Amino acid sequence: MTTHDTTTESADAGARRVALDEGLHWVDVMGGASRIEIPVLDHGFIALVDVMPRLVPEGQTADAAIVQAARVSYGQGTKRVSEDRGLIRYLLRHRHTTPFEMVELKFHVAMPIFVARQWIRHRTANVNEYSARYSIVRDRFYTPSLDAVRKQSRSNRQGGEETFRIDEAAEVRTAEEFVEFLRTVESAYEKYLGLTERGVSRELARIGLPVNVYTEWYWKCDLHNTLRFLSLRMDPHAQQEIRAYAQAMHDLIVPILPLTMEAWRDYEMESVRLSRLEVEALRSIASGGERAIATENARERAEWEAKRAWLGFGDRA
Ligand SMILES: Cc1cc2nc3c(=O)[nH]c(=O)nc-3n(C[C@H](O)[C@H](O)[C@H](O)COP(=O)(O)OP(=O)(O)OC[C@H]3O[C@@H](n4cnc5c(N)ncnc54)[C@H](O)[C@@H]3O)c2cc1C
Repeated sequence: MTTHDTTTESADAGARRVALDEGLHWVDVMGGASRIEIPVLDHGFIALVDVMPRLVPEGQTADAAIVQAARVSYGQGTKRVSEDRGLIRYLLRHRHTTPFEMVELKFHVAMPIFVARQWIRHRTANVNEYSARYSIVRDRFYTPSLDAVRKQSRSNRQGGEETFRIDEAAEVRTAEEFVEFLRTVESAYEKYLGLTERGVSRELARIGLPVNVYTEWYWKCDLHNTLRFLSLRMDPHAQQEIRAYAQAMHDLIVPILPLTMEAWRDYEMESVRLSRLEVEALRSIASGGERAIATENARERAEWEAKRAWLGFGDRA
């Protein structure tokens, strides 16, 4: 898209209108799409519905807005893409925040209420949720497949990664019973509908529905806080269901902001943070000494063991 507008004066407000740079070819970072959607879980989805900046000069990506904001202090515009990459990597590595807040992302999401409860804790986003006071809740319930029913972890009270074994009769019976339990709870939907038809208000009738029922919202957030959301919710400590949404969100953003997402992966997602005690233990390993961390705290020790193995300094290293 090229514009031929020139700078004009608005008659009423005296505002000066500056056209897009005529010498550049401007492109839509979403390639002209009104939404780009990825299905998640059994009935859910996440769709990217808008981005700021939406238009960028051809050959650039939405990363350009970060660079433009960072360079405002020098009065310099966008330079070559290779220099932009270096600047973005520098900004992310040194935890600069505000340039990344110049990019906004808007998503339309359908997810189970128990996922939404975790998601809403990210307070820096703007949210508009489907109202179950005004509208009838749709008949969509999340049910994991039989082979995806997870056991409670013995080591981590919040988590569960190991699934029930579908080749062992007793285990498969337990998993089946859980799925059956969800179906029973789901059957409350008919009752909910019937009671609303007989005059019970929607705002009260909904309180009998389970937390695996789906809700929908628009979620808008700046890139800095979206990256924080991804760091927390793509992490293996996060619940698998919200992780599936975070992964899909990540996949939607990568083509729009390739430079930032590459830097985020390098300096955040696949990096490792070491405490002072861990640095000391690492130094000790390097000089052939003790491998353990100098603490009695079992959780800190376990975390260090995991980091040590990840870094390739396992027991036989
Ligand atoms: C694996 C996992 C387990 C969790 N377990 C629990 C749990 O058991 N119980 C529970 O209640 N929660 C739990 N949480 C939620 C968690 O404690 C956070 O509330 C959630 O992850 C949101 O993080 P945030 O505050 O960084 O995000 P946001 O709310 O998006 O905030 C982003 C950043 O903005 C700043 N900010 C936002 N609001 C303010 C403010 N009012 N004042 C000052 N600074 C602000 C902060 O720097 C913050 O880091 C868990 C989260 C994860 C990922």
